[in-house]
Amino acid sequence: MPGKLYIVPTPIGNLEDITFRAIRILKEVDFILAEDTRTTSVLLNHYEISKKMYSHNLNNEHKTISRLVEQLLAGEKVALVSDAGTPAISDPGFLLVRECIKNDVEVETLPGPVAFIPALVNSGLPCDRFVFEGFLPHKKGRQKKMKQLVEQERTMVFYESPHRLIKALEQFIEYFGENRIASVSRELTKIFEETKRGTLKELINYFSKKKVKGEIVIIIDGKS
Ligand code: SAM
Repeated sequence: MPGKLYIVPTPIGNLEDITFRAIRILKEVDFILAEDTRTTSVLLNHYEISKKMYSHNLNNEHKTISRLVEQLLAGEKVALVSDAGTPAISDPGFLLVRECIKNDVEVETLPGPVAFIPALVNSGLPCDRFVFEGFLPHKKGRQKKMKQLVEQERTMVFYESPHRLIKALEQFIEYFGENRIASVSRELTKIFEETKRGTLKELINYFSKKKVKGEIVIIIDGKS
């Protein structure tokens, strides 16, 4: 029997946000590849899943991929999870998926949690067409990316860390103008979940008055 790589999305905060199938697959596979085995242990303990786990992250993925593909070709069934949400979405996963496809190893991605979908839908901005930009580059390439986005007509989606939120909003004002409508979703699915909508200027005013904590998705209206 050939092996198979399952890409298994996991909750982005609320442990209830996992599918029955994801739990079954995590129980059935030969082993789990986790971005951080300690983080994934919390999930596995919650669902009483006891399974061998190995770390698979940005630091080791280049080195381990060929051995993993050999194991898959030898018939092992493997699940890949990240700390939160869907692997390969601003998380490790792409390299392994690509290598599996190159080597005719079957890959099956389960649908499930991802941070930007609830943020996008909750923003109230058009979500029939959108661009997912993930994390903007910190230094090199950031300005170039912003210039490219000036003419973007689709709703734009960004991941950002809380301590860079104000700086990012200031930069968005520089390129899109202070009246561009946007939305900031924080701590989705968690106790202090919050979505603030308004112009970029209103959002800066609101978030500069408090210490911004937690994980953040920024949604920005496209050029009209
Ligand atoms: N793989 C994940 C996914 O499917 O969305 C993304 C992982 S990426 C390393 C982490 C970023 O996702 C955070 O910095 C934040 O921008 C966003 N994120 C993850 N969980 C979130 C949450 N509960 N609320 C808001 N944003 C979240």
